[in-house]
Amino acid sequence: MSEQLVIEPARFAREGRKLAGRLAVDALPRLAEAVQPGSGEVSYEISGFITSKGHIGLRLSVSAAVGLVCNRCLEGLTQQLDSSREIVLVPGADEFAQPEDESDTEDIIPEVARLDIRELVEDELLLAMPLAAHHDECAAPDVSGEDPLSAARLSPFAALSRLKKD
Ligand SMILES: [Zn+2]
Repeated sequence: MSEQLVIEPARFAREGRKLAGRLAVDALPRLAEAVQPGSGEVSYEISGFITSKGHIGLRLSVSAAVGLVCNRCLEGLTQQLDSSREIVLVPGADEFAQPEDESDTEDIIPEVARLDIRELVEDELLLAMPLAAHHDECAAPDVSGEDPLSAARLSPFAALSRLKKD
């Protein structure tokens, strides 16, 4: 499944086009690397518009439920990611300059003739990813030693002596 998702931003914006679809997480290698295997699909929607200054604008929204590992109990959890952004293409723009009026949800990038939607969707999801995911309510793993499994984990010698007894 490698459908072409390259658009011509100038035409896309001028014609006020809209594109929506779904992508498998596996089709986004950088995202796939950051989440647990078996994460579901990503849905995206992108629409073109012309900004008040006459620049090419793209409005992107993404949504996905991805598998992450809880930072507290180390069990898996499903994290819902939802994010949206406006991308403005400006001829000769410096991607790394931060214009004063640039907000968190607006990006200014240099104008390009062709743009791969997949890259945009992947970037946006990576930005939406929490730094440390955790369940709303859960406890840290029990390392008090009462649980035989965690005791074995703490002391390889304890585990060894248990094996010898058997
Ligand atoms: Zn947890």
